[in-house]
Amino acid sequence: MPPGSIINQAAWDLFNYNRTGILASSSSRTNVFIRTKFQPVNDSRPDIQVIIGTPNGTSLWALAYLLQPNSRGRVILASRDPTDAPIVQMNYFSDPASHDVNTLMEGIRRVNQIFSTAPMHNSGFHSFSNLSDDIEFKNYLYGNKSSTANSNSGDHFTGTCKMGIDSMAVVDPRLRVRGIVGLRVIDASIMPFITSGNTQAPVYMIGEKGAQMILDDNNSTGTSAASSLHRSYNFSIVIIFYLVFYISTLIKQH
Ligand SMILES: Cc1cc2nc3c(=O)[nH]c(=O)nc-3n(C[C@H](O)[C@H](O)[C@H](O)COP(=O)(O)OP(=O)(O)OC[C@H]3O[C@@H](n4cnc5c(N)ncnc54)[C@H](O)[C@@H]3O)c2cc1C
Repeated sequence: MPPGSIINQAAWDLFNYNRTGILASSSSRTNVFIRTKFQPVNDSRPDIQVIIGTPNGTSLWALAYLLQPNSRGRVILASRDPTDAPIVQMNYFSDPASHDVNTLMEGIRRVNQIFSTAPMHNSGFHSFSNLSDDIEFKNYLYGNKSSTANSNSGDHFTGTCKMGIDSMAVVDPRLRVRGIVGLRVIDASIMPFITSGNTQAPVYMIGEKGAQMILDDNNSTGTSAASSLHRSYNFSIVIIFYLVFYISTLIKQH
């Protein structure tokens, strides 16, 4: 067991013995998907995901994720030098109607409800019971002069190079960079909107689909090149046949 470890000896022994126990499991074992009152009635997707985990086997945490934020970040070139890092503006909670912060607060309140039930409450979970009003909640999420912000990206970055046909689209529906021949983008950045959950599996799908598009386009280009080659062979044969016929006619006349 590493010195200072907060994992108990029994957990280490179990893992070393047969690779089981708390150390063999993901720290985020439970996912809860919630539709809050802010989700339009005609939209059946959840708008909050709660990940509940046991990072070390002796404690419990819950994270509330906003699934369809209205706020939009930006990635801007810092200069014309391609080796300069771009400027990344996250713009969290920048939507003018405050939809994002209100939905997230609602999600956290729902987490509170779950952890206020008898079995969870008895586990000693400390919830946000001190954050009784919206101002306290917002200070907690945004941070203020006396506290740091308690929100981040969730590591699900998408949409910096979105697919589409409008003027903001960087790639077309076949993932080709608009205006540049022979260049595609095939990763999380092409999502026009973020998915309602973790992004890894959708990225695998984008990769598979993009690879198939490259093969398809390559095959169809190959086929059309082959058929035009075939047509030009046929044409040459016709010319040669005609020349042979013409020359033999001339010989007969003489
Ligand atoms: C800490 C963390 C935890 C996450 N946990 C989860 C999770 O539990 N479940 C989930 O579904 N999603 C999770 N995600 C999100 C998921 O990992 C991403 O959505 C996904 O990996 C994005 O895939 P991508 O191909 O777009 O980009 P990436 O996976 O980032 O791949 C980009 C690749 O490009 C390479 N690269 C960069 N620059 C260059 C260069 N100049 N030349 C050559 N290669 C270059 C990088 O090395 C990298 O291999 C997590 C993300 C992070 C950061």
